[in-house]
Amino acid sequence: MRKNYLLTPGPTPLPPQVTEAMARPIIHHRTPQFQAVIKEVSEGLKFVFQTKNDVYILASSGTGAMEAAVANLLSPGETALTIQGGKFGERWTELCAAYGINTEVIEVEWGKAVDPREVEKKLKSNPEIKAVFATLCETSTGVDTDIEALGKAVKETEAALVVDAISGLGAIDLKTDEWAVDAAVSGSQKGLMLPPGLGFITVSAKALKLVETSKNSRYYLDLRKARKALQSVDTPFTPAITLIIALSEALKMMRQDGLENIFLRHKKMAQATRSAIKALGLELFASAAPSDVVTAVKVPAGIDGEKLVKTMRDTYGVTIAGGQAELKGKVFRVAHMGFIEEFDIIAGISCLEKVLAQMGYQFTLGAGVKAAEEIFLK
Ligand SMILES: *Cc1c(COP(=O)(O)O)cnc(C)c1O
Repeated sequence: MRKNYLLTPGPTPLPPQVTEAMARPIIHHRTPQFQAVIKEVSEGLKFVFQTKNDVYILASSGTGAMEAAVANLLSPGETALTIQGGKFGERWTELCAAYGINTEVIEVEWGKAVDPREVEKKLKSNPEIKAVFATLCETSTGVDTDIEALGKAVKETEAALVVDAISGLGAIDLKTDEWAVDAAVSGSQKGLMLPPGLGFITVSAKALKLVETSKNSRYYLDLRKARKALQSVDTPFTPAITLIIALSEALKMMRQDGLENIFLRHKKMAQATRSAIKALGLELFASAAPSDVVTAVKVPAGIDGEKLVKTMRDTYGVTIAGGQAELKGKVFRVAHMGFIEEFDIIAGISCLEKVLAQMGYQFTLGAGVKAAEEIFLK
């Protein structure tokens, strides 16, 4: 027998209400029943994206929504600015390259956050930049970007601000409209507490103009089609019916909790995790703006980081994430996103302690759990 705990930055655990919704008999999508669901989730998504604009639902993972942003907002030969402080920032650059879009790149040392003044400078010296691609939470490093500050810098220019909020939406604050974000994208398997399979994208009036004038060829990801269909409470292709019905359950839970409470809960889970990590004598990878979504931790000297993650998962059923790309074996990542509460964190830290002790790492057993509990008692 094995009880599993999922503390990864996607997928995240599913609430029972969500799982139950997916067990219901399938309905047809071009029906009044499904139209009622579309109406409900459309309102719910506006609520979590904190926008008055429509949010389009794609049957894709989060990257499909990122691709939709690139394919719809720009034309081949145009120039975009990307911010690369980790694997997901790099994805924006790769997507632009795939669509023949030139990129100016701001390289940010992994573990650090971009200085908004650098973005401002780049925009001044490169007035041809049509879009700025940023990442709300750089999941590979556990660092947040100050989107509000970027919004202020980009708003004054012709460029559109595009934010990858795949990890972060519904976990940390993203005031899409108020912060002048022109396009925000997300995915289902992170803060929204669903299985993978849905991508989301919302665009501002400024971005919508770009959608209408873009010379890129696009078909499945054409937001003009999505927009037209949504106007008659429909989708251009067969939607992921079951996942969208599950989404309506997740959104109901989120509305009941309220965004402020959701953000506070994530803050507390993150504080407890960071406090536990420090009490174990370990070091955070993020040297600035550590995220409330996921905590990246440096693997201590003498410990095999990949073995640590593997043992926690295969021997004890606690799944955390290892490092990606150049951070492979160098960091491990504990996510505290979505349907996670204090005793999930306690279980995760407790398992981390157990395996670290078995691997010969020197620390006071229980120190991490104690530090986390002290945060939860506050
Ligand atoms: C998970 C993640 C992605 C990739 O999403 P997929 O659903 O795997 O396509 C992109 N950006 C960030 C910041 C993420 O955390």
